[in-house]
Amino acid sequence: MKYIAKYDYIKFKQCPRLFAYNWLDIRPSAGEIDPLKDFLTLQGIEVGILAKDLFKNRATYNVNQKNVTLAFIETKEALGSVDVIFEGAFEYEGLITRPDILNFKDNELVEIKSTTEVKDDHILDIAFQKYLLEKCGVKINKVKIGHINKQYVFDGTLDLNDFFIFTDVTEIISHKILELENDLLIINDIIKNGVLPERLIGSHCNSESGCPYKKDCWDEATLDSIFNLRRDVSGKKFDLHREGIKQLKDIPSYVTLTNFQKLQKEAEIHSCAIVNHFAIAEAIHEVVYPIYFLDFEAFIQAIPRYPKTTPYQQIPFQASIHRLKGQGLKLKHFSFLNIDDTDPRLALSKFLIKSLEEYGSIIAYHASYEKGRLYELIKSAPQYEKELLALIDRIWDLEEIFNKGMYVHPDFQGSTSIKKVLPVICPKLSYDDLGINNGTLASVQYLKMISKDTSKEKKEKIKNDLEAYCSLDTFAMYSIFKKISELI
Ligand code: SF4
Repeated sequence: MKYIAKYDYIKFKQCPRLFAYNWLDIRPSAGEIDPLKDFLTLQGIEVGILAKDLFKNRATYNVNQKNVTLAFIETKEALGSVDVIFEGAFEYEGLITRPDILNFKDNELVEIKSTTEVKDDHILDIAFQKYLLEKCGVKINKVKIGHINKQYVFDGTLDLNDFFIFTDVTEIISHKILELENDLLIINDIIKNGVLPERLIGSHCNSESGCPYKKDCWDEATLDSIFNLRRDVSGKKFDLHREGIKQLKDIPSYVTLTNFQKLQKEAEIHSCAIVNHFAIAEAIHEVVYPIYFLDFEAFIQAIPRYPKTTPYQQIPFQASIHRLKGQGLKLKHFSFLNIDDTDPRLALSKFLIKSLEEYGSIIAYHASYEKGRLYELIKSAPQYEKELLALIDRIWDLEEIFNKGMYVHPDFQGSTSIKKVLPVICPKLSYDDLGINNGTLASVQYLKMISKDTSKEKKEKIKNDLEAYCSLDTFAMYSIFKKISELI
């Protein structure tokens, strides 16, 4: 039997068509698997296991069965004989749920999330569960979401009472349950009719959880430049698209645009870059030799790995620096990569202070990221506070040239990320052939590299891939900076 689970309901709330794709098994070519999503799923499982330890003084039962029929049987057997059931299985008229924690002593339903806050999807998730459990005759007085305390500082021993925060959402979900009853009628109609709901593309296609069916739904719309409209928080592009305006150049003059959006439109009309030479010259005159191009890679983890770190803190493990002592001089490369499972922050601080020396501009791309990591390094290496603060003062952000509209090209597609800018400004340089070609993959692969379960050969391959990736980031910055400097 096929059941409707909370996952299906959340997908339905994101987009009825997305629910139908999954439910009706009409699965068009789904997009690529995001390595970060896989990694976060595993972390979620680890956090869920940790939360069970909070109930170790109670009589508990863990329904370990993946097989649903057996899980129903086990749950029935455990009911009434224990205080707490983990991942019990409940069914009501085609709906199914496996609640993380059912605490019968306090009539509490608890859902564990590996995030640091309660999100809208969590409310839908737990409303679905409460509705179903009550239909099954389970008494629920309190509903809580257990999530991670962002402020928690790990001191080497995990204190679960401090690591978790339990937010009472009993009140919040009461009106969601009324909404749910209505939604279930629509869901049942979709199932009965077996027809895909209307295709209504919008910001929900790009929501945090995304949609793997964009290729199918968006079809030729992916080529419509109207979707490149930058910083369109109100979703103006979707309204315009529905009105039949597909290209930026066709936006009617009565539509209010930001200065950047106007430049985007102009760039598309003229099919070329719009360059503000004066502004670029002014910006570049701030840069002084020797120039250091700097980039970090960092990883995050829900459960802190090293003392004096917090959940999801960015831990930098790698840095690449390209140094240019003067115009026309040879570029020199310096790199740092931590290769074992030790806290890399102190060694990285020393490397940065030594390699970036005491004078000259430090160019970063999206500098707030590099500055943020340096401020965090100060916390882990307070003895180097003065030196690290001095580095922060020397940082100059190359992205600002693009972000502030000094150089706008239609092929940037509304983005100013280095991955979009590089192939336009320096077409010979590309991330395409690298084993690691984005920061997310770099962090996931780094954790694989330092794992004791990874073979020596695999570790070596990841190490080389990481070196190549981070080094290209700073070489790309140097190359973009050189090209931009040639404009003035
Ligand atoms: S791409 Fe958008 S419209 Fe299509 S199924 Fe996904 S969310 Fe729905």
